[in-house]
Amino acid sequence: MNTPFSDATISNHFAELGSAFYTRLEPQGLTEPRLLHVNAEVAQLLGLSAEQWQSQSFIDMMAGNQALPQGQTLAAVYSGHQFGHWAGQLGDGRAHLLGAVETEQGFLEIQLKGAGLTPYSRMGDGRAVLRSSIREYLASQAMTGLGIPTTQALSIVVSDDPVYRETIETAAVVSRVAPTFVRFGSFEHWANRPQQLRQLLHYVVDQFYPHCGTPGLTPDAELVQNMLREVVRRSAQMVAHWQTVGFCHGVMNTDNMSILGLTMDYGPYAFIDHFKIDYICNTTDQGGRYAWFRQPSIVHWNLARLASCFLELCPEPELQAVLAHYEADYLQQYHLNLQHKFGFDQWLKDDDQLANDWWHLLHDHQADLTLSFRSLSTVFEHPDAWLALFGNSQAAQAWLTRYQQRSQLNQHSQLERVQQMDQHNPLYVLRNHLAQNAIEAAQRGDVLPLERLFTVLRTPHVWQEGYDDLALPPRPDQSLPALSCSS
Ligand code: AMP
Ligand code: MG
Repeated sequence: MNTPFSDATISNHFAELGSAFYTRLEPQGLTEPRLLHVNAEVAQLLGLSAEQWQSQSFIDMMAGNQALPQGQTLAAVYSGHQFGHWAGQLGDGRAHLLGAVETEQGFLEIQLKGAGLTPYSRMGDGRAVLRSSIREYLASQAMTGLGIPTTQALSIVVSDDPVYRETIETAAVVSRVAPTFVRFGSFEHWANRPQQLRQLLHYVVDQFYPHCGTPGLTPDAELVQNMLREVVRRSAQMVAHWQTVGFCHGVMNTDNMSILGLTMDYGPYAFIDHFKIDYICNTTDQGGRYAWFRQPSIVHWNLARLASCFLELCPEPELQAVLAHYEADYLQQYHLNLQHKFGFDQWLKDDDQLANDWWHLLHDHQADLTLSFRSLSTVFEHPDAWLALFGNSQAAQAWLTRYQQRSQLNQHSQLERVQQMDQHNPLYVLRNHLAQNAIEAAQRGDVLPLERLFTVLRTPHVWQEGYDDLALPPRPDQSLPALSCSS
């Protein structure tokens, strides 16, 4: 067997940007790391054989104990706005980029999270605990399964190394995979330094948005507008998906916003069970800046911070004109998602009112978001099951009558309607109590609950025999308090 990645084509394109953008370093790694889980699909995408990803060499690489062959390990610098305030320089405080591997989807970077201190660790220890690593790992799988743009996760390795949080926990490293981990904050870092800003712009366009122009030939103002237009579209689509599946990110700081519109940096996120419009999943977020209903406007605000970096390269009215597309981009995806989820063959103007009343109905009854959508496909045959989610209320009955009338306008067959809905209303989402259950079992050395969850999240729209417990909302005794930033 060859060493993992020794046959791969490795690129260090980010490193080629030059040392202003990062610090080369070796991770501290883990003591006697063990493989807790590997995402076989991602491993395969990266060209690894089962023998390779089961090898000690793979574990050592994913723990930060061994470099990627040909890889140049580094921690990147960035800045950002946190909770609405300029936070200055941040950077990869506990992330190490190993290099990029060529795949059928282009070059994919591998980054370790939790492999030790970097020059950007500030007050932190550069570590990630098992709990937060499992949460990131499962969330990456959940979002991938739902078809929501996200960074992916390759593996979790664990160790007995102690990590000091509220209590003493153990260290883990999750390896994650994406074309790039460049964030809005990577640009914000260079906002007043046009030379590096241009360099980063040229790099991102060249590598990830080549249809936006040719750096060096296309005028910079045009590159900025074209790239920003893409980022606006992708970010709007991303958050529209979050809204309709009931995902709360929890820490939508500009340093957690991917320049590719990928969901990234999973911390105290939640898939909402009992729906509340003003649901807040992060206890650190006292004011509810990142509450569910604010997420779309926060993405817009974050995009404005990104746009403002380019004032020296592009006239402000042009930047404003690009940002102005955001609302239409958002609504297009949001309406399309709801059209699919409600089983309509098109979105009509009046459907907005029905949708708004839907969210309020869920809110007023704190109904389970996932099951309320899912059981809508059979509501005409089994109204009782659906109505029970709303305590058989008159308000639910009234909404259902309107929904039924609206559904009669559909041209497609009942079978097509049900198929469409079941493909867009997941049965299994990564509920917090399920993640917690998998975490507690893994802490005891039992990976079966993690494995089971991982399995259903891969195809969350497909019912699977023997997994009904993973489709249920938490019982009152299973409900968990919201998590903090240190999750
Ligand atoms: P977050 O809001 O979790 O994305 O983190 C904000 C910043 O804090 C980033 O620069 C992280 O790299 C850094 N950070 C978070 N946790 C740690 C830690 N345990 N050690 C070092 N840096 C950390
Ligand atoms: Mg972050």
